[in-house]
Amino acid sequence: MSTILLEGAPVAQAIYDKALKTSKALEAKGVTPLVALVRVGENPADIAYENSIKKNMAKGGVSAVTAALSQGTTTEKVLETVETLNQSDIVHGIMLFRPMPEHIDGEWIRHAIHPAKDVDGITDMSLGGVFTGSGIGYAPCTAQAVIEMLDYYGIDLQGKKVAVVGRSLVIGKPVAMLMTEQNATVTLCHSRTPKLAEVTKEADIVVLATGRAKAYGAEYFAPHQTVVDVGINEDPASGKLCGDVNFGEVATKVSAITPVPGGLGAVTTAVLVSHVVEAAKKAAERNQK
Ligand code: NDP
Repeated sequence: MSTILLEGAPVAQAIYDKALKTSKALEAKGVTPLVALVRVGENPADIAYENSIKKNMAKGGVSAVTAALSQGTTTEKVLETVETLNQSDIVHGIMLFRPMPEHIDGEWIRHAIHPAKDVDGITDMSLGGVFTGSGIGYAPCTAQAVIEMLDYYGIDLQGKKVAVVGRSLVIGKPVAMLMTEQNATVTLCHSRTPKLAEVTKEADIVVLATGRAKAYGAEYFAPHQTVVDVGINEDPASGKLCGDVNFGEVATKVSAITPVPGGLGAVTTAVLVSHVVEAAKKAAERNQK
């Protein structure tokens, strides 16, 4: 049986192409999509992420600026910064580098972002929008990336049975909602789900987002299935990047599967870029009214 490899690169490219087209149209009207990255301190991991975000933003015609605050800054100062960015007419999206240092109240700051600029989908308003379908805010990027991946490869959700393993607010729960919206019948599983393999084997599509390296082997899957592996983990044996699925064991046994690396990660970043462009487009439309 030949398995379809659901690679992320072409999906991401299609999202960038579409974003770039919209950005160019906005540019012609004098609007440059702009995201503001709020960073506290000089954590090398944050800076590396910042550089990679800026590179990827350019692929969709988005500019990025950093609001860098010193390590010793206060919650009030960060709130003030977010508020200034909320009010700015030229900033369309706001992203926070998290976690922030311990003395900063990250929860307050998360909630301070205006949903129209919450391109990372981290506020409760955005999550509420995913649940109500109101269109306020943005879905968490990874959750939406799962939908984009399936859509690109023509895997229809309508009438399908889906097992989502993992119920975090950034992935499992919003994915379940987005899929329900597309008329899938979703079972949301977690660490207390009994006989998990029986549940996953029954599904047409299995989404795994648990953060457990290579934990799901052939016994969890059936030949007709599409498997979306969201996990990004370090394989303790090799030190290499791996998913939640034991890819070597499962890849030849299912109908379609996302690899790790090379799967969902690139799509997630592209979705973030597309959110900024969408936010800029919506802002331009609001200004026209
Ligand atoms: P969390 O730790 O927040 O959530 C993990 C979820 O998995 C929980 O709901 C937990 O259940 C469930 N879980 C843990 N153990 C088991 C088990 N034995 N059986 C069934 N369910 C279990 O993780 P995240 O959602 O933040 O991330 C999940 C993975 O996705 C990680 O590998 C992360 O690196 C990756 N990731 C990938 C991204 C991408 O772009 N591809 C982006 C962000 C994250 P319970 O609620 O009961 O504890």
